[in-house]
Amino acid sequence: ASKVNRGGIYHFEKNAAQIMETDLHIEMNLRKALELDQFELYYQPQINTLTQELKGYEALIRWNHPDLGIVSPAKFIPMAESTGIIVEIGEWVVDQALSTLKAWNTEKSKDITISINASARQFLHKDFPSLVGKYLDKHQVCPSKLVIEITESLALENTVEVSEQLTIFNKMGVSISIDDFGAGYSSLTYLLHFPVSTLKLDRQFIQHVHQDPKSMIIIKTLIRLAKDLDINLIAEGVEEEEQSNLLQDLGCYMIQGYLYGKPMPKEEAFRFLLNSNKN
Ligand code: C2E
Ligand code: CA
Ligand code: CA
Ligand code: CA
Repeated sequence: ASKVNRGGIYHFEKNAAQIMETDLHIEMNLRKALELDQFELYYQPQINTLTQELKGYEALIRWNHPDLGIVSPAKFIPMAESTGIIVEIGEWVVDQALSTLKAWNTEKSKDITISINASARQFLHKDFPSLVGKYLDKHQVCPSKLVIEITESLALENTVEVSEQLTIFNKMGVSISIDDFGAGYSSLTYLLHFPVSTLKLDRQFIQHVHQDPKSMIIIKTLIRLAKDLDINLIAEGVEEEEQSNLLQDLGCYMIQGYLYGKPMPKEEAFRFLLNSNKN
């Protein structure tokens, strides 16, 4: 776009129009993807290294784009959030994840949990708890098997609203997990007021634990904190045996990472479940 003022129309006005057009375009594409059933949930195992058992799966969305192939959520979730269509996509995720868990109706799936990610806009939506309740009913899934992951920033920026939603989910028996824990926020006092069941230790600490003594100190402190507050801790992004061993030495036994399993399509996740040690 040129920076000259042509006929009184500044280029930034044109840019604003262009941006709006692009936004509309993106929203249309995401809506179409929803209608054409191009989204897919992948499932990544969460392992208890103490017992070697499968504790549950985190559901992670993918977009099977006809031209682009598999599109990462890191690419389209932010756009889905800014256009608002995340609310509809999020509803699809709840429906899909619970229907999959229901379909895995075996002895081995009895005790596993399914975690879904909720964006701020979706989580703060007044109707979100009742919507979750509706799909729990529809698929006849016990609320205790569902975990909703929200990010630390969401929890801190909307304390009152989040607290209200947490109270409702708590009453329903649905668990809440704080995602990306430790990534960029220093105030931990919200942990005192929020009924959360799990903290997910951000991958950045795990990644650097062997090179950076500070990462190690932070991990130790967060493991201790979780223990003292009686909150579960899952370490995310564990790729190496060394990292896993160290975490276990420090007392963190719940692990999610490529070392134990990448996110996989539901059929593969089902086979993984059948081969897991749980019975
Ligand atoms: P997240 O919730 O922090 O999910 C963990 C991400 O780390 C996933 O990326 C996962 O594939 C990746 N990961 C897991 N283990 C390892 C590892 O050992 N090494 C490395 N390098 N990466 C690992 P993914 O699937 O690309 O998802 C990216 C983000 O997109 C998620 O981060 C989450 O914030 C968002 N997202 C994914 N699915 C959904 C969804 O259904 N709804 C919403 N609102 N957001 C979603
Ligand atoms: Ca997550
Ligand atoms: Ca995370
Ligand atoms: Ca994240």
